Amino acid sequence: MNARNQMDPKFMWDFSHMFETKEAWEAAYAECEADIAKLSSFAGTLCASAESLKAGLDTVYAVSKKMELVYLYAMLHQSSDNGDPEYQAMQGRAINLIVAMNTAIAFLEPEILECDEQTVRSYLEQPELAVYRQTVGEILRGRAHMLPKEQEMMLAMLSDVRGNARNIFEMLESVDMTFPPMIDENGNEAPLTHGNFGVWRESADKRIRHEAFTKYFGEFKKYINTFAATYAASVKTDTFYSNVRKFANPCEAALFGSNVPVAVYDSLIEAVHEGLDTMKKYLKIRKEALGLDELSTYDLYCPIVGDLDMKVEYEQGKELVKKATAPLGEGYAALLDRAYSEHWIDVYENKGKTTGAFSCGVFGVHPYVLLNYTDTLDDAFTLAHELGHAMHSYYSSEAQDYVNHDYKIMVAEVASTVNEVLLTKYLLSVETDKKRRAYILNNFLESFRTTIFRQTLFAEFERIAHDMYQSGTPLTAQTLSEAYQKLNELYYEGATVGELHKYEWALIPHFYNAFYVYQYATGFSSAVAIANHIYETGDASDYLAFLKTGGSDYPLEELKIAGVDLTKPDTVKNAMRVFAECLDEFEQLLKEI
Ligand SMILES: [Zn+2]
Repeated sequence: MNARNQMDPKFMWDFSHMFETKEAWEAAYAECEADIAKLSSFAGTLCASAESLKAGLDTVYAVSKKMELVYLYAMLHQSSDNGDPEYQAMQGRAINLIVAMNTAIAFLEPEILECDEQTVRSYLEQPELAVYRQTVGEILRGRAHMLPKEQEMMLAMLSDVRGNARNIFEMLESVDMTFPPMIDENGNEAPLTHGNFGVWRESADKRIRHEAFTKYFGEFKKYINTFAATYAASVKTDTFYSNVRKFANPCEAALFGSNVPVAVYDSLIEAVHEGLDTMKKYLKIRKEALGLDELSTYDLYCPIVGDLDMKVEYEQGKELVKKATAPLGEGYAALLDRAYSEHWIDVYENKGKTTGAFSCGVFGVHPYVLLNYTDTLDDAFTLAHELGHAMHSYYSSEAQDYVNHDYKIMVAEVASTVNEVLLTKYLLSVETDKKRRAYILNNFLESFRTTIFRQTLFAEFERIAHDMYQSGTPLTAQTLSEAYQKLNELYYEGATVGELHKYEWALIPHFYNAFYVYQYATGFSSAVAIANHIYETGDASDYLAFLKTGGSDYPLEELKIAGVDLTKPDTVKNAMRVFAECLDEFEQLLKEI
C-alpha cells in the first residue's frame, strides 16, 4: 500500500483552507492557550446583567470556535496518516487544549443554573442574546432534574464509576476475547475476528456462514454470565441515575437530552410490529430464493442475488451522486462540484489512513470527507452518504451562528440516508437489466431489515431489560437470553432462531449507551419519507430549510420543517409500506431472472 507522500494530491484534502501553514496553526494554538487562561475571569459575572451574560458567552464561544479549528486541523492530519509522529504530537497537543478549555468553562452551567430562572429568561428575551436562547434554554430545561448542590457534587464524584460497565465490556470483548479460526472455501484455516465476522456471515456458502456464527457466538456463550453481569451493572446504573434525577424511567432519562418523549420510542416499536408480516414474507422469499428447506437466523445476511460485477470508479461515483441528488436543486449540485474540485474529499486508501469513511464539518471553512474508495457500488453509496452529512454541515454552518451550527445525532443520519435513498431511486430509474435491478432492491431491502427492524428489535430489548430490572426480575444470562430469544422469534417469525442466536445481545456495544439505537430506525424512516416526498413533488425546499437549522432547535421540531412528525406513527408506517412495495417488485423480479 502507498505511503501518504506517494499519493496523488489531486485526490487529497487541502489543509491550507484551514491554516495557510503549520506556523499559522502554531500561532493560533498559542492564542488559544492565552485565551483559555483568561476565561475563568468570567466566573461569577454571568447573572449580573444581560450585558455581562452576553460578554461571558461571547468570549467562551469565540475561544471555542478558534480552538475547534485548531483541533480539527490536527485531527484531520492525524486521520490522514495515523502513523506520522508529527501528526500524533499535534493531535495530542490539540487534545490538551480541549481539556484545558473544558476545565476553564466548568463554571458555566452550574452558574447559569444558580441564577434566578426568570431573570435569565428575561435576559434571553433581549435581541442581542437571541443567539443563545436554544443553548441556555437547554441548560435551564435541565433544572427540573437537578439536585441540591451537595448531592450534585456526590454525583459528579461518581461520574467516573458510571462508565465502568462499558469499560469492562470493551476489555472483555475487544481485548481478551479471541475466536477459533475458520476453515475457508479451500479448506484452509483463516482468522475470525470482530472485523471480519461481517464478511464471513455474508458467505454464499451455507457451511461457512453457519460456522462463522457458531464460532463467533459460541465464544460469547463461554463468557455469557460475565456479559450478563456487566450488562446488568449498566442497566442498574441507568436506573440509579434515572431514579435520583426523578425521571419516570431510564428511557425517559436517556431521551431527555434530545427532548424526545418516550411515546416516540414506543410508537416506533408499535409501528414496526405492524410491519412484521412483511418481514415474514421477506424471509419466505429469502428461503425460497436461497433454495433452503429451512431458513435459520444465520442465513439472514448472505445476498439473495449473487454478487454482480458492478464496478463504479470514482469518476462514475461522483457523476452518479450528482445525478441522483439532482432533485435537491442547482444549489446542491453546485456545492457537490465544489466538494469534488476543491479538495473536500480525501479519496483513496494510503498507509496509516483511518479506515472506513466519515464527514467532518469545519465551521467557516468547508466539510472534509474521508473515504477509502475501492471502485465498488458500495463505495458510491458511501460517497452519497458522507456527502449527505457534508452538505448538512455546510448548510448549517452557512445559515447559523457558530453557537447553533452543530446538529444533533438524531437528525444527522437523516441527511446521509436521504442521499442513499435518492441514489437507490435513481439507479432503479435507469437500470433495465433485471438481475441488476434485483441486486439494487436486495440492498435496499437489507437496509430496511438491518436499520429499521434490527435496530428496533435492539431498542425493544433495552426497554424490556430495564423494565425487568425495575419490576424486580433479576438480570441473568438466562433471563436476558430468554427475553432476546422471544424477540427473535417475533421479529423473524418463519425463520428458525439459530441455537446460539439468543446470545447476540451480549455483543452489542451500543447497549452501554442505553436507548440510543432507536435513532437509526427513526432516522432511516424519516429519510425514506423525505426522499419520497422530494421525488414525488420535485420540491426539496422544506428539506433544504431543515438542513439549514443546524442545532438551533430540538430534533423533533427540526424534522417537522422537513415534513416529518415523529410524534405520530405515520413516518414509520410509511416506511413499512415502502418496504412492502419494494418487496413486491423484488418478488416479481426474482421470478423473471
Ligand atoms: Zn453517517
